[in-house]
Amino acid sequence: MANIRIIRKDITTLEVDAVVNAANSSLLGGGGVDGAIHNAAGPKLLEECKTLNGCETGKAKITEGYNLPAKYIIHAVGPIYHGGNDQEADLLYSAYWNSLDIAEQHGVKSIAFPNISTGIYGYPKKEAAEIVRKVIKDFIDERPGSIENIIFVCFDRENYDIYEELFSLNNEY
Ligand code: ADP
Repeated sequence: MANIRIIRKDITTLEVDAVVNAANSSLLGGGGVDGAIHNAAGPKLLEECKTLNGCETGKAKITEGYNLPAKYIIHAVGPIYHGGNDQEADLLYSAYWNSLDIAEQHGVKSIAFPNISTGIYGYPKKEAAEIVRKVIKDFIDERPGSIENIIFVCFDRENYDIYEELFSLNNEY
């Protein structure tokens, strides 16, 4: 069983074991949540990111949290939405799955996710949330007890409302 929470807050302020960043494949910073995380974590984050040689879409890499309250930052690269026929759903699923997998390998018990790909990358929010619900359920079914607390940080009202509806209807976690 995992405890799932949906909140509206700046993800950089959360005291969790790991926060997930919606990164781009260069891992060298960007706009949106990526910019906020780099600003709050400080310049040492970019130094470590430069050593990682980027990250493929659908994959994730981990760094220290530096000036964030979180111990780790997991940089996940979601797909850019090109209309839905470019394996976007699979790639979004894998970005979440690989984030959870790398979190588990580092003993993470509490993790906070932003709404990956639904900002600048343009993924339709409802469809993205349905994929998130599926991947979380699959991961918890396959690895029960590994991660105890999962927080979805829904920065915008639309995502918040979608998540509230989707996850309140499904209490099987
Ligand atoms: P992407 O390029 O993957 O679409 P964005 O950063 O543009 O990434 O958007 C992803 C989500 O992160 C959006 O829902 C956006 O509202 C949200 N977001 C932006 N800033 C923050 C923040 N400081 N904390 C949490 N979520 C944020």
